[in-house]
Formats: sequence, structure tokens, C-alpha cells
Amino acid sequence: MAEGRGATSPRMLLRRLREVMAGTGAPEQRLATVVRVIAANMVAEVCSVYLMRAGDILELFATEGLKPEAVHVTRMRVGEGLVGDIAAHARPLNLADAQSHPQFAYRPETGEEIYHSLMGVPILRGGRVIGVLVVQNRTRRRYSDEELEALETVAMVLAELVGSGQIVSNDELSKVDGNATLPLRLEGRMLAEGVALGVAVLHEPRILVQKTIAEDIPFEKSRLEEAIRALRAAVDRMLDSFDKAMVGESRDILEAYKMFAHDRGWLVRLHEAVESGLTAEAAVERVQTDTRQRMQAIVDPYLRERLADFDDLAHRLLLHLSGRTATAASERLPDAAVLFARTMGPAELLDYERPRLRAIVLEEGSPTSHVAIVARALGIPVIGHCEGAVASIEPGDRVVVDADHGHLYIRPGVDVVQAFRANLALRAERQAKYAALRDEPAVTLSGERISLNINAGLLVDLAYLEEAGADGIGLYRTELQFMVRASFPRVGVQTELYTRVLDQAGARPVIFRTLDVGGDKLLPYLRDGETEENPALGWRAIRIGLDRPALLRSQLRALLQAAAGRDLNVMFPMVAEVAEFAKARDIFERERQRMEESGKALPRRVRLGTMLEVPALAWQLPALLPLVDFISVGSNDLMQFLFASDRGNARLIDRYDLLSPAMLSFLRWVVGQCEAAGVDLSLCGEMAGRPLEAMALIGLGFRSISMHAGAIGPVKEMLRSLSVPPLAAYLSELLALPDRSLRGRLQSFAKDRGVIL
Ligand code: PEP
Ligand code: MG
Repeated sequence: MAEGRGATSPRMLLRRLREVMAGTGAPEQRLATVVRVIAANMVAEVCSVYLMRAGDILELFATEGLKPEAVHVTRMRVGEGLVGDIAAHARPLNLADAQSHPQFAYRPETGEEIYHSLMGVPILRGGRVIGVLVVQNRTRRRYSDEELEALETVAMVLAELVGSGQIVSNDELSKVDGNATLPLRLEGRMLAEGVALGVAVLHEPRILVQKTIAEDIPFEKSRLEEAIRALRAAVDRMLDSFDKAMVGESRDILEAYKMFAHDRGWLVRLHEAVESGLTAEAAVERVQTDTRQRMQAIVDPYLRERLADFDDLAHRLLLHLSGRTATAASERLPDAAVLFARTMGPAELLDYERPRLRAIVLEEGSPTSHVAIVARALGIPVIGHCEGAVASIEPGDRVVVDADHGHLYIRPGVDVVQAFRANLALRAERQAKYAALRDEPAVTLSGERISLNINAGLLVDLAYLEEAGADGIGLYRTELQFMVRASFPRVGVQTELYTRVLDQAGARPVIFRTLDVGGDKLLPYLRDGETEENPALGWRAIRIGLDRPALLRSQLRALLQAAAGRDLNVMFPMVAEVAEFAKARDIFERERQRMEESGKALPRRVRLGTMLEVPALAWQLPALLPLVDFISVGSNDLMQFLFASDRGNARLIDRYDLLSPAMLSFLRWVVGQCEAAGVDLSLCGEMAGRPLEAMALIGLGFRSISMHAGAIGPVKEMLRSLSVPPLAAYLSELLALPDRSLRGRLQSFAKDRGVIL
């Protein structure tokens, strides 16, 4: 080996290995032959295979060069010695003087003390480490990059032999607990609270390569070329359809895909891998492992981000090669699933079956992104902004999600699992305490009655109305029902749906918000606009409603029909000027008149209002207030427009604070205006569901707030321990401060006054 390349080419080695693998004889015997062939081909004095056994133990299974009696005797833990280190980090080692490495652990039974140089690579199956392949030489030398690549290719072939379950049973392989690496803890951000224990599932599953050695290289080449052609065509098609859609960021990603799908370096490497004797699938996996290793060393976050693009592209190429399409989301969910994705839209989340889903981990996302809002409504904990999460897990790994603290534990030890079981029990106790509060009045210590409402949008939410003891539904997001359908629901279907909502709510009032799509809420069947640079500021919500009056009309008609004989509350989203509200109200009035003229039953009472989430509208309140029955502040959008700070951008999560003098002064101005005009005011953004923020809102004068159902208990507990006048006085002083946030001061206030947060 010291002379450079091995005696034969990788292609000949692969051919030889194919003969051995196809041959007769017990699998272990074939493994012994394999190590002999590799040693001879690579001019190595030693070639050994260690395989993973239950309990994360690596056991020597075959060797050429070490003492034969060490086979099945030499064993080490993952993380122990050089072999254990390769398994723990799933990365190769290439050492000229292995014995001087701090991780070297001497095993006398092997007789390895005379070998100085060592090169080892993990044997990976579907991304999991199932063993380690090592070659050793007496002389002190560093193996070349070509040699390392050849050894990695051979490791793929071995993975096929081992993964067949004939050497270590499949049963045992699957029991090897999270055998990729050691336990790992990653940090992210809480997007929806809660704690969960479950099994990792990839939102976009990886594909297991079944066959690694090519029988017919020209055939594999043509398969590869065909798959690349299909991939390029698919990316072009996606780009075409996105041209008409309302997304900016997704388009950038697709443009990047297109560039990579034509990247010469990538294509050359794929062809070389097939040339060396691999099947097309194995070539894709092989090149991707390389790309990943190379790119993981890059520090630049933008370039590292591109690794995810390459991973995704390789995945798509494998899909084309296997002739498969992505399977329906919920078909693949085990019980107690924790879903991992780089990013996900709310509609994709709704595709999964709720009962099996325990938690979600995203590499991107922010607390007011709609996937987080939907997850919160469903009571699913979410960690977002969790860099590297997707690459760090293997499907089937056990994980603990502590969303409250933004901690993700991958393959946790028993101690961590026990601690979380205890934590879950504590939570159950807390829930029981909130349940006991259910029938207690939502009245502060100083006597203010606060109306607590829930935000809803799915039929499952309605059950919580009763359970949480809420006063009503302060925000019914009608678009969620539109997002789970393949086409625009007709009036009849909508009427039926709204009737069910009103039936279930009974005497409790429901505020229906008309369709609020656009931004991060896309309807696949409503792709009318140009690609938008800034979808949050784009053609969305009431703007679509007014430009496509037939859509709005059909929804208003359905609402009127559903509410025949009962109360109907309707509000419009994203209203920016009084004229928009006036137009929307006119459309509503015309529908009502039409119904009246045709002799249909009308609602008993109608109240029309608007969301206040665009700052401009606040400066028209004197003109607006005489026209509306109520106003509901949408603090999620308001915050992003007030601070010019994208609500979905993970990098901006902590940049500005809702509890800033600016936001709170703005809200106080709105409270004052509504009070003077005698117009009902509420707030239905995510801030209403956090006890400290809710405390500030009550201090500012809000007497009605709406939140996800799970927040009613904690917010009620808070307000029942709050005396409002001292807080209102204190807040008045605070608003003039130059501070960026009043959070710390409000927390101290709560602590000093015994307010339960
Ligand atoms: C808001 O913007 O605060 C709001 C309640 O609406 P959505 O989150 O659906 O945009
Ligand atoms: Mg909004």
C-alpha cells in the first residue's frame, strides 16, 4: 500500500466482491473471504470488520491479519477506542500513527501493536452505523484520498451483506438502540409548548439503497442519466407552477435546485461512482456521503445551508431511480411519532393523523408561523430553529422533546427519559389544577371580569371550548378548513361546516374571520398572482376577498345561512383602510338583502368587525369606529408590520419584543379610542396566550382576549392573582422609558405582587 494505489482498481475489487457475495457458503465465511479480498486488493496487512451488537457494542466479526482468536472476543463500546470513535461520530479516521492517538485503546488479544497506520470507515445502512471497516499497515503512513474513497465504497457493499440480516439478525440490528451515534442534545426554540417522548420520523423519508454492486455498468449509467433527466424536468415543472404561485422563498430554493441539478462537478462524481462499479442508487448515496463530509467542514452558514439543498436533491434523485413517489404522510407514522423537517407548511402538518403525532422538530420556523399556530391549536409541542436536527437523527431513534426549554434529546440515556417521565407526571398534575379552575370565574383580585376566548379553525378545536371553560371563540380561522381540501369548498359544504361550528359552540359566541390566505398560508388551488417578493405584504386576506368578490360572497352566504335564527359575528382580516372595511361590509349587506328578498331565514343578530393588524388602520380609528361593532387586534401581524420584522423569519425571533414601549403604547392608544367610542375590543394574537403578556394587556385595559385553548388555564390562574390598578399605574410610567423591552420590569412586578405566571 505504501506504493500508492492498491494492486487493482476499485472496479476490479467490486467485481471480486460481487463474486464472493453471490457465492455459496455461510454468510460469516463470506465475510472472512471479503476481508481477505480487501486486504489483498488494498495491499493492507490487516483488514477487519466490526459489527454492531445490541447494547451499542462493536464486535470483531472477521479479520485478515489480526489474531484469529480475537474474532468474537474483541468487543468495545461505541465511543471507546479508535473503532468506537469512528462509530460514535459516523466519520472516517486516517492515521499514520494510530497508537499515539488519544483514543487508542490497546487490545492484547489482537496482536495489533505492530501495526502503526490505520484507516477506518463506518459501515452505514440507511444512515445508521451498523459496523466499522478497518485496514492497518506496519509502516507509518497516511492513506491517500483515493484509498479512503475506495474503502468507503467497499463499506457500502458490506452494508448490503450485513443489512441482509444473515450475519447479525435483523431483529438484533433493529434493537441496537439508536446505533448511529452517542446520545446528543441539540438546542432550538420553543414554537409551541409541551414535552414529548417519541420515535423520530422524517417528514421526507430517506431511501434505503438495496443493491450496491452493478451487474451491468452501461445499464446503470443509462438509468442514472434517465433519472437525472427526469429530475431536471420535475424541477423545471415545479418552477413553472411556482411562477404562478404566491411564494418568494420557495422559488429561490427551486432556483438553487435547478442550478445544482446542472452542476457539472456533481454529475461527474456521480458518473465516476457508477464507472467504479456501483449501481446508480449506490452512486447517488456514495457521492452524497462525500458531499456531506466535505460540506460539514464549511463554516459559512449560507454554504452550509446549501448542503440541505443537495441532500434534498439526492433524495429526489433516489425517488426517481426507485420509481417511487413520496408516500402519503400519515401512512408512515408509527405511534408516538416525532416529526423532523427542515420546514413545513400548515397544510402539510394537517395531512398527518393527529393521534399519532407527539411533537415536531423543525430546522427553521418561528412562533408566529402558521405551522406553529396550527400545532399549538392541536396541542403538539414544536421546537424550531433547531440546526442540524434532520441530519442528526435516524428514523426510529428515540427522542425527547422539551419544547418549553427548546431542548431536543436524541437517543437519550435512561436518566434523561426518567426525568422526563417525572416531568410529564408533573404536567398532568398542573393540568388537573387548571381543570379545577375551569368553573371559577375569570375575575381579577380587583374585580375586573375578563372574557377569555379560544382561537379555533379545526373541528377538533371545538371540543376544547367546553373543556377549557372559555367564553367563546374569539377567532375562528376559516382558512384552515380551506387548506385541508384539494379544491375550493362550495357554498353548501361551507354552510355545513359553519353550522357544525355554531351547533357545537351552543350559546357561546363565535367570531368567524373571512378567508385569510396568502403569506405563509397557501391554497394549492388559488394560484393566481405573480410570484411575490414579499408575500406577507402582498396579495393576501381581504385584498384577495375584494379583488375576487365571488369568493368572499360565497363565504358570506354560507355564514349567513349557517347562522339562520342565531347570532352571527364576522370579521375581516388585514384591513388597512376604512374604505376596505366599508366595501367588505357592502358585499355582506348585499348578500343579506338577497337572502331577505328570497325569503330565507336570517340571523337573529349580526355583528361586523375587523382585525386590526395593519398599523395604518389605527390612525383612522375615529373614522372607522362608528362603522364597526367590534375590533380584534391581530398582534402577530401587527408586530411584524410595526417593527418591519418578518414574523416567520427564525433569525428575527428575539430581535424585537412584544413587551416594548412601542408596541404597548400603540395598544394603549387603541384601547383608549375604543373605550371612548364604546366599541368592543379584543386581541387574538399569540401574545394573549402567554401569562406575562396577557397580564400587560389587562394592565393596558383589554377586557377580552383570545388564545389557543391550552393557554386558558395558565392565563386564568394569572389574572385571578392580579390586582389591576397598581399594574395600570406602573405601566403608564414604563411606557415613556427608552428601554427596548419592559419584560424584565413586568416580571419583577409580577414576582413582587405575587402574580402567578
Ligand atoms: C394575527 O395576525 O395576530 C392573527 C391573529 O392572525 P393570523 O395569525 O392568522 O395571521
Ligand atoms: Mg394576521
